[in-house]
Amino acid sequence: MAEYQKKRRASKNKPGIRRRDFIGGVLTVAAASALSSQRPVSAAKQPSGNTYREVLETPIVGRYQVIVAGGGPSGLIAALAAARSGAKTLLVERYGFLGGNGTAGLMTCYNGFRNQRPPEQLQTVKGITAEYIAEIVRLGGIADSDNYARQFPHDVRNGELPYCIGFDPEAAKIAALNMIKKDGVNLRLHSWVVGPMLRDSQVTGVIAESKSGRQAIAADIVVDATGDGDVAAQAGAPFMGPAEKGDRMGMSLMYRLGGLPTNIEGSYGGIRIGDRVVKWGPGFGGDGLDVENLTRAEVGTRLNLWDEIQDLRKKPGMESVYLLETATGIGVRETRRILGEYVVTEQDAIKGTRFPDVIAISSNPMPSYHGKRFFFGHEGFDIPYRSLVPKKVEGLILTGRCISSEQAPFQSARSMAPAMAIGHASGCAAAMAAKGNIPPRKLDVKVLQNLLSSQKAELRMPAK
Ligand SMILES: Cc1cc2nc3c(=O)[nH]c(=O)nc-3n(C[C@H](O)[C@H](O)[C@H](O)COP(=O)(O)OP(=O)(O)OC[C@H]3O[C@@H](n4cnc5c(N)ncnc54)[C@H](O)[C@@H]3O)c2cc1C
Repeated sequence: MAEYQKKRRASKNKPGIRRRDFIGGVLTVAAASALSSQRPVSAAKQPSGNTYREVLETPIVGRYQVIVAGGGPSGLIAALAAARSGAKTLLVERYGFLGGNGTAGLMTCYNGFRNQRPPEQLQTVKGITAEYIAEIVRLGGIADSDNYARQFPHDVRNGELPYCIGFDPEAAKIAALNMIKKDGVNLRLHSWVVGPMLRDSQVTGVIAESKSGRQAIAADIVVDATGDGDVAAQAGAPFMGPAEKGDRMGMSLMYRLGGLPTNIEGSYGGIRIGDRVVKWGPGFGGDGLDVENLTRAEVGTRLNLWDEIQDLRKKPGMESVYLLETATGIGVRETRRILGEYVVTEQDAIKGTRFPDVIAISSNPMPSYHGKRFFFGHEGFDIPYRSLVPKKVEGLILTGRCISSEQAPFQSARSMAPAMAIGHASGCAAAMAAKGNIPPRKLDVKVLQNLLSSQKAELRMPAK
């Protein structure tokens, strides 16, 4: 649960300040809280003990029908879908570019457009996500080879997507910007979403910190695409933590080697473009939300990686290789899964359960199921709309790797292709809810499914 308590303070008596233009609040911040970075505007009477009390007044700098918090694969497609479905949409991202773990994390292969093994006839991820891949193709951004064996050829350049698409992260960043511009999504980069605007349990926008200071941005509906479920958790939605042990998925520092000798053929165990290859680097365990652990992870993995590459360069024939680039930050695989109206179960994934409120399909294997890569014997399991709707919080829709699911199906649906398909649905749902003034919990899923189908999403619905 969120580690701080928030008390709202009415600012209606402030001269010259209209209530709806400012959010007032007194925050008592636990010393160890990792999620907040408040700016005091006046001295407050300090409580004794291990907390520091801040008094805040935060200007509201914009109003949107839909705000998507987080510009990773899922948030990007969610924002495009919301805008394309007619909502005035803002995408807020902490970095200076889009793409999330695919670009910042240098995880340059989108997995899960279809099952990796038979039955794999059905391409389970289509729609706006396929358009985004087509844009990367148009920019010449598809990798030469990758580490994932395929049993059947698929023609990427003609829109038929195989299990995995290896890509150039710089092309992916540009493709994202081109799509955002084309669909009229408003963009706010360099902005950390540090909390929701709240009216009781209703999320009414987000609060972002940036070089411009602390700002509130109002929205009818917020989509939590932070990967970690930051907005939902701070709004008070209950959540599940990562697996305690066993199949818990750790962190890894991805990196890019340059100068691979021309006599080395194939993918060299990574995602290769010319003489450059993205590789999986040193791993690290522990809590991916604990800033002290994250600091240890960055320091440890970066020092190890440097030594590994120097050792590699000493091997005969490998003198030309060098560390071209590391990820912006270590890749965090598993943190919160928010508790929603339905929790997708391990058996749903294994049996391939079909739901009447399907909004996406996940066909990606579970890569770490009891220590092994588990391939489904079906074409994919359904993601129901209810798993995008958090319990106890209104005005908020989940997307990406924080949706409501047990750990095993999470391993599958967290992969970037299904995460983007889920983004397509969350964006359409957010636009529908905002435009119709309908609580996400009460949305007519049939109408959502029709909208998704009209935007070419694959739902295995009978053709009309
Ligand atoms: C090491 C590693 C290897 C992986 N391998 C693969 C693979 O081979 N293929 C595959 O398909 N998937 C792989 N995955 C999984 C996949 O990358 C993620 O599960 C996926 O990116 C989740 O998408 P998302 O959009 O939910 O979250 P993210 O990709 O994490 O995107 C979240 C976005 O939100 C932003 N953000 C976060 N918090 C805030 C905030 N508070 N305010 C503002 N912005 C915020 C982030 O900067 C980011 O842009 C791997 C993951 C890791 C870590």
